[in-house]
Amino acid sequence: MRKVAVIGAGTMGNGIAHVFALKGYEVRLVDISTDQLQRAMKTIAQNMDRQINKQIITEKDKESALARIRTFNVLSEGVANADLVVEAATEHLETKLKIFAELDRLTPPSCLLATNTSSISITRIAAATGRADRVIGMHFMNPVPVMKLVEVIRGYATSDSTTQTVMELARQLDKVPVEVNDYPGFVANRILMPMINEAIYALYEGVAGVKEIDTVMKLGTAHPMGPLELADFIGLDVCMAILQVMYEGFGNPKYAPCPLLVNMVTAGHLGRKSGSGFYDYRTGAKEPFVAERFRK
Ligand code: NAD
Repeated sequence: MRKVAVIGAGTMGNGIAHVFALKGYEVRLVDISTDQLQRAMKTIAQNMDRQINKQIITEKDKESALARIRTFNVLSEGVANADLVVEAATEHLETKLKIFAELDRLTPPSCLLATNTSSISITRIAAATGRADRVIGMHFMNPVPVMKLVEVIRGYATSDSTTQTVMELARQLDKVPVEVNDYPGFVANRILMPMINEAIYALYEGVAGVKEIDTVMKLGTAHPMGPLELADFIGLDVCMAILQVMYEGFGNPKYAPCPLLVNMVTAGHLGRKSGSGFYDYRTGAKEPFVAERFRK
């Protein structure tokens, strides 16, 4: 397995391209947005510089890894002859179903199709293809070059051989794979997102302010980041999409996204990637941003 196509060059796609390229894979990074592809290459170079400063990689590793990444904004060109595709496009069911139907048509039959979805059913995505045995969840964590875990999610029809190959592949990337079954939110987000949603409810109901909630969780429960800071880091649109999938998947109102989260996403305050969310990142000072009037 040498040729890996990564679909989507956003927060996760650039990190996934980064780790595969450093391990010697030929990477084709595909996005519908040329701007996003350019931004991704810049981010990858900057993140590799960080690794050089920490003496994790050398300047030469960076140069050869960057030379192994090619960018495409036409799917058919990016995935031709791929051995593996890792899809990391927007967390939106119809988008993913469309991409997988096209991947089934455009890639060699032996090609494994993985999705980095945070919550959408692998079984459902696999059903958009004629090779459900070779479709699997490969859920990297953010930031991909730093975080060790890969949740490997078996769809209903994913074969043993596909699962073993992907578990081994994750180990080759110096990650720790954990095999889980295909239920809404899998394990990481099933547990994380209700906590983030509850933190947003605490803010919405005026229990405490942004910094106060994050400080309580950091100093009181030993979380490296507060839940609101983490939500900004993940992307508020991604958090809302995951909660909606769990809400619909379990039919349980406890997963319904807090109205404040819905308002912030609707207003385009998506966290770090848009410049503001619970905090304001535009000045570099990282001050709480949520306007008082957004609260209940
Ligand atoms: P993002 O919004 O940063 O990036 C998504 C990218 O997909 C954008 O660049 C967009 O242009 C591109 N895209 C949309 N439709 C496309 C298409 N048809 N073909 C090619 N590219 C397309 O999102 P993200 O945070 O990187 O999330 C990507 C996936 O990873 C989602 O499924 C998300 O649930 C999952 N994920 C996110 C995180 C996180 O912390 N952000 C963590 C784990 C998994």
